[in-house]
Amino acid sequence: MKNLIYADNAATTKLDIDAYEAMQPYLMDDYGNASQSYSFSRSSKKALKEAREIISDSINANPGDIFFTSGGTESDNWAIKGYIFKNPNSSIITSQIEHHAILNPCHTLEKSGVDVRYIAVDENGLVSLEELERYLHDNSQKNKKTRSLVSIMFANNEIGTVEPIKDIAAISHKYNAVFHTDAVQAIGHVDIDVKKMEIDLLSASAHKFNGPKGVGFLYVRNSECLSPYNEGGAQEFGMRAGTENIAGIIGMAYALRKNADEIEKNKLYLLNLESILEDELKTASIQYRRNGATSHIPGNMSLSFLGIEGEMLMHRLDLMGICVSTGAACDSRKTQLSHVLQAIELDKNYAYGTIRVSLGKFNTEEDVKEIGRSIINVIKES
Ligand code: PLP
Repeated sequence: MKNLIYADNAATTKLDIDAYEAMQPYLMDDYGNASQSYSFSRSSKKALKEAREIISDSINANPGDIFFTSGGTESDNWAIKGYIFKNPNSSIITSQIEHHAILNPCHTLEKSGVDVRYIAVDENGLVSLEELERYLHDNSQKNKKTRSLVSIMFANNEIGTVEPIKDIAAISHKYNAVFHTDAVQAIGHVDIDVKKMEIDLLSASAHKFNGPKGVGFLYVRNSECLSPYNEGGAQEFGMRAGTENIAGIIGMAYALRKNADEIEKNKLYLLNLESILEDELKTASIQYRRNGATSHIPGNMSLSFLGIEGEMLMHRLDLMGICVSTGAACDSRKTQLSHVLQAIELDKNYAYGTIRVSLGKFNTEEDVKEIGRSIINVIKES
């Protein structure tokens, strides 16, 4: 097999060397439990403090607003369920294209009687601001005493669309709602300033920005609005119990600082890789559509090929040593389109032929040329 070309960076990313080196001491030498008061635990405590400062700095938050978790799924579940546990009569407004880490807790809460609304998106995956305002207005008429929770993702994982977060936050606050955003795909790739953008709650996951897996955080502007999630010890200011993953947390902080410092450089680099791949496809007269809005996560390319099975294309590329993912999965009877492709109402002739090529800072021009040539060969042979 040829060298691996990894182009599934929206699924996970390679650990950055700076993050790896920052983690080392806490795995073998400085392994003290940060909750103990003897001197051996001092460096673990110091690492927690340093990580909180680095992370809060990169999104313009206060260090005390950062709560470490096990990743994006936990942060999302905490935001949704923690809000409803604390504010039981509240409603939730979210979108049809959220990750299942948001949709599934919403479905669970719906079964126990919570009112959840799912906002539609347009053909580019942008949420309807009119619908958001209408739902918020309805909720404020129905129940004047409770504040709705609005949860809209910063950027979509399948098609890369970046939502108008500042506008969504402003509309939410106009109706006194609390605004959460799942920024798992966005943080470290686009600029985020929680104060300027008026974000109340934000979920993040280290492995999407070249940090380690199994660690993330929830930014909480005002912890009064949430119930604790994990209950047990007094870690994370009594809001999230469990011995902290110090190595993971410090690795996450170093990875985030590096990516946040290089957002503009990485963006230009990735946009150039995107256009090289698109030029290859256009030169070979391949019929395809690119999904998502012009404002998208750099490197995230959702491509739909006319009359092709996306899953077949993904497997053929895999045999050539290229990792991409698909937007349509086969079960034993039929091919299922993802909820995101259904929500943007993509033409079915193209939709079943969708793959996601998500490029990262470690991809090269040679990688994208090879991806382009390989896609063209598979399509021409089929
Ligand atoms: N939210 C979004 C938008 C994601 O893309 C993902 C992972 O793919 C998650 C949440 C879940 O994050 P984690 O893998 O850290 O649990």
